[in-house]
Amino acid sequence: MRLAGRVQALPPYLFAEISRKIAAKRAEGVRIITFAIGDPDIPTPAHILAELHRAADDPANHRYPESEGLPELRQAIADWYERRFEVRFDPQRETLPLIGSKEGIAHVALCLIDPGDIALVPDPAYPVYEIGTMFAGGSCYRLPLTPEREWLPDLEAIPEDVVSRAKVLWLNYPNNPTGAVAPLEFFEKVVWWAKRHDIAVCHDNPYCDVAYDGYRPVSIFQVPGAKEVAVEFNSWSKIYNMTGWRIGMVVGNPVLVDALMRVKSNIDSGIPQAIQRMAIAAVYGPQECVDEHNRIYQRRRDRMVEVLRGIGLEVEPPKASLYVWAKLPDGVTSGEFAARLIEECGVVVTPGRGYGEHGEGYIRLSVTTPDDELEEGLERLRRWGGLRG
Ligand SMILES: *Cc1c(COP(=O)(O)O)cnc(C)c1O
Repeated sequence: MRLAGRVQALPPYLFAEISRKIAAKRAEGVRIITFAIGDPDIPTPAHILAELHRAADDPANHRYPESEGLPELRQAIADWYERRFEVRFDPQRETLPLIGSKEGIAHVALCLIDPGDIALVPDPAYPVYEIGTMFAGGSCYRLPLTPEREWLPDLEAIPEDVVSRAKVLWLNYPNNPTGAVAPLEFFEKVVWWAKRHDIAVCHDNPYCDVAYDGYRPVSIFQVPGAKEVAVEFNSWSKIYNMTGWRIGMVVGNPVLVDALMRVKSNIDSGIPQAIQRMAIAAVYGPQECVDEHNRIYQRRRDRMVEVLRGIGLEVEPPKASLYVWAKLPDGVTSGEFAARLIEECGVVVTPGRGYGEHGEGYIRLSVTTPDDELEEGLERLRRWGGLRG
């Protein structure tokens, strides 16, 4: 079999070594506790599941869905954005449901990137921005995110010849993996800059309602005129604990939304309609679950920060997202540190290097580990005591 270059170019599985170590520990009979996965542990709320049960019995939902989604779902997306951010979208032209936002994030590269084009991608970042670009034949120019700049990219530092070949800028706040947030003034600068250089902006915002201490994340569309250059990806996954059902959305620039709809209509046949009905129920149903989940995550976050500081890591409690991003002592790589935690504590964390070069020196822990396991994992770290001494 002679595979295509794009498959051969896929990066080696960074966590292969870690997976091998986990398997070896399990074989020894060790109960592994993982903080590595950003996937809500709390089930989908009952009122949303009730809608799935009802919709499953309706034969209208047994047939091919339309690629562009039910009109009621597109209306629900527009209504949700208006309620949450006071911004308006034309449901028919400016919203599109996705089979989970990851799918749209990967496919939108096919709408923007020709071979030889550049995508501006933060480093560290969710890996799909880079892989989608590579599949479309483009290349990435990585924008370092550093604590000195509060994990925001420096657009003015991008060389002119790179800017002139760049077609799209990727952003993600609240951020995975760093937990950083961006103020509206940052997005104002981004929109101005993108218009000046005729570069599309794709903002990935799945954590806009996963926030703590009263903080309210923003949408890029709170910047007037953002629709001229931007789309925003969003999702029911993290807000309503619906990762397993696969439903997300994109909103914004009608030319790009239409292009993505046309690409997708040639690849997939839409989202199962019963799942679209769940998403509609989530938008119009009771919203108390969102705050309830955030209270649980916030408590876990605080426990985690306390223990990580106790073992000598530098960490700020994130204002939003599901992640605690902890700085390792100088000279320790994230891969080595993660391997030692498995070996010596049976605890799994994600090495920051997996999100890019600038993620090196950090580890990511997710607050989606159930309380009893979380306490057990933290107790093991406390007893282990860290690298000092
Ligand atoms: C979880 C996540 C997504 C994907 O969410 P789905 O809608 O479940 O595909 C997208 N971007 C980031 C940064 C995420 O962390």
